[in-house]
Amino acid sequence: MKAKDRLLAELRASVPQVAPADAVAMQARGVPLVDVRDPEEVSQGSPVGAHRVGRGRLELRIEEIAPDTAAPLLVMCDSGTCSLFATEDLRRLGYSDVRSVTGGFTRWKNEGLPVEVPRGLDRDYRERYSRHLLMPEVGDAGQQRLLDSSVLIVGAGGLGSPAAMYLAAAGVGRLALVDHDVVDRSNLQRQILHTDARVGTPKIESARATLKALNPNVDVVGIGERLTRGNVERLFAGYDVIVDGTDNFPSRYLINDACVRLGLPNVHGAVYRFEGQVSVFWPAGGSGPCYRCLFPEPPPPEMAPSCAEAGVMGVLPGVIGLLQAVETVKILLGLGELLVGRMLYYDALRARFSELRVPRNPACRYCAEGAEFPGYVDYERFCAGAS
Ligand SMILES: [Zn+2]
Repeated sequence: MKAKDRLLAELRASVPQVAPADAVAMQARGVPLVDVRDPEEVSQGSPVGAHRVGRGRLELRIEEIAPDTAAPLLVMCDSGTCSLFATEDLRRLGYSDVRSVTGGFTRWKNEGLPVEVPRGLDRDYRERYSRHLLMPEVGDAGQQRLLDSSVLIVGAGGLGSPAAMYLAAAGVGRLALVDHDVVDRSNLQRQILHTDARVGTPKIESARATLKALNPNVDVVGIGERLTRGNVERLFAGYDVIVDGTDNFPSRYLINDACVRLGLPNVHGAVYRFEGQVSVFWPAGGSGPCYRCLFPEPPPPEMAPSCAEAGVMGVLPGVIGLLQAVETVKILLGLGELLVGRMLYYDALRARFSELRVPRNPACRYCAEGAEFPGYVDYERFCAGAS
């Protein structure tokens, strides 16, 4: 008898087996069922409510699925053989009551028991994200992370347009856009979410149409409100990353202060004429500064170009908004070196990038260690004299 056959015979004798119908009943009582088949097999269907973890990742994921090693646990594969080996792996981790589903998914399906096609593992998913799935740094786990993530973009304008389009294309699960404006023809020179036919319609509606056409799987949340100190925390709560695509100081300070308060990464971008800048303000995620560490208070209104109608080369926000999208994806996937503590400048006329270190201000009123939140400041009247 070969070693494998001997082990299998031993496992058959020692692992408790459960018929698929009994497994359904156990599931109903809260016993986790782990489907250990490959993603390709799972994509054809899997028991309703099963945890889908390929055998290669079983040891890494099992603790979050079944924290109690003494509680019963069901394991299922395609025919009931592979699950026996998986059971052996789990026993070695200390799970004392692991049971294998007899006949596996084949029998489950033949008996007409409840099956679902898991979200994100269908054919659309494999085709749409194939270039991500090919990269070891992203792969299935990374793509699932993107699908489970949520990003809120303030401003569906020049910066928000390219950022939103690429984040939707990349498969970010929930994408919220905050904008209370309607599409104006003068926007179209750079705000590529919008179209000529949608001039006069709310920007969030226009954005939703474009993003849904690009990737119907993305949950697009349109928030047609002006950002205020009264709503900023409610709107930001529950999002993983905030992208600042605004063009005015009142919003920029509100975004910064709320992100500091909520511990959220603030992916900052700004453009003026031929120049742009990008950074990630995230004191909670490391040693980096917040926006107020650099600019504790807004400049006097007459010095702030954003209050008046400032000119900008239409292509430029495309570059800056995309850099914001890149940083956002890196944050979501935990990849690479973020623009935390660095401001990246782009000079389009000279075709040069340069970088400035931006240290944290230990005396910053907002993000300093142990600082009590000083409250939101209403800069709404700030621009009144400048327009
Ligand atoms: Zn600060």
